[in-house]
Amino acid sequence: MTTFKLLLLPGDGIGPEVMAEVERLVAWVNAAGLARIETETDLVGGCAYDVHGEAVSDTTMGCALAADAVMLGAVGGPKWDGVPYEKRPEAGLLRLRKDLELFANLRPAICYPALADASSLKRELVDGLDIMIVRELTGGVYFGEPKTITDLGNGQKRAIDTQVYDTYEIERIAAVAFELARKRRNLVHSAEKRNVMKTGVLWHEVVTRLHKERYADVKLEHILADNCAMQLVRAPKQFDVIVTDNLFGDVLSDEAAMATGSLGMLPSASQGGADASGRRRALYEPVHGSAPDIAGKGVANPIATIASFAMCLRYSFDLGETADRIEGAIARVLDEGLRTADIRQDGCRTIGTREMGDAILAALDAAA
Ligand code: NAD
Repeated sequence: MTTFKLLLLPGDGIGPEVMAEVERLVAWVNAAGLARIETETDLVGGCAYDVHGEAVSDTTMGCALAADAVMLGAVGGPKWDGVPYEKRPEAGLLRLRKDLELFANLRPAICYPALADASSLKRELVDGLDIMIVRELTGGVYFGEPKTITDLGNGQKRAIDTQVYDTYEIERIAAVAFELARKRRNLVHSAEKRNVMKTGVLWHEVVTRLHKERYADVKLEHILADNCAMQLVRAPKQFDVIVTDNLFGDVLSDEAAMATGSLGMLPSASQGGADASGRRRALYEPVHGSAPDIAGKGVANPIATIASFAMCLRYSFDLGETADRIEGAIARVLDEGLRTADIRQDGCRTIGTREMGDAILAALDAAA
């Protein structure tokens, strides 16, 4: 049996509380003989700054580069509001993304039937929703140069951001989307603004060519990003995989996710390029932050982090069946009417972080 090395970086605030539930799931997977996962735990964010004077140490980066996958809880909190900008907790996360060259951000928007009434959209629109948004993470307008604010000297200032994409950046993110679609419902929507942006014209051209050359078996639709935003609230179930640039992906993934309910439910994955053996560097983390308002109270919802672990099993360890079992256990616990405070509903029982972990483990045992 292959041994997988998983680096756990719980981070700050509720990070350690939700990561503790993942550690119990790792133990369950190992004990059930489904895989051999060796974990190591290290510091990132404010807690790393307190110990090392920086948000992620070189030693921790070394462990991250050597691991088969990294799981992160959350970073940040008011305690570190005054630390120098380049040492702030978020800098640890940005360095991880940069040094691991994580260019593809995968944000699923899945609506568990038991939570469909909690969505701001009508139940029939979101019940059974399962979308994957693939966002380009390391290029585009967030990083393009020049990026300046200039004083024009006449009482006016001029701000410039630069949207820039090279062919290879579009090719590799589109390839991730097509590969994912093959394991799902075989449909990719490529979203850009080719009607008004040159990067959109190139995006459309490169995706079309790549599709023709290597992924003709996958159904491809091109959609303007503004129409995509509208369709996501009008009829979200028409989508399977949506691939888009950094800026549109930032907006569209939050929009799609909110159709499914609370921040405490949302997992994510970020992937880098594949090495010669086909292994991709990857980081898995919940979408939410460190939630300082509830940290230490034992009430945080661990499902986003547990679902991120399920993504790790599926995409980094090729253990899709085990991932299915964990996602199935989450759905069953919700069906049984168990809720953490953030997804509280009338007629359901409100439980804490540890009890939610207990319930998911019990559901796994019951289904074994
Ligand atoms: P947040 O996601 O931490 O919290 C927003 C709200 O959602 C809070 O009311 C919080 O209690 C609630 N919430 C979040 N996760 C929850 C969970 N699992 N269970 C129950 N409720 C949950 O966002 P914020 O308040 O804007 O930021 C707090 C800190 O987290 C800041 O320092 C911010 O910079 C940092 N942050 C980190 C990340 C990250 O590590 N990836 C992401 C976003 C924010």
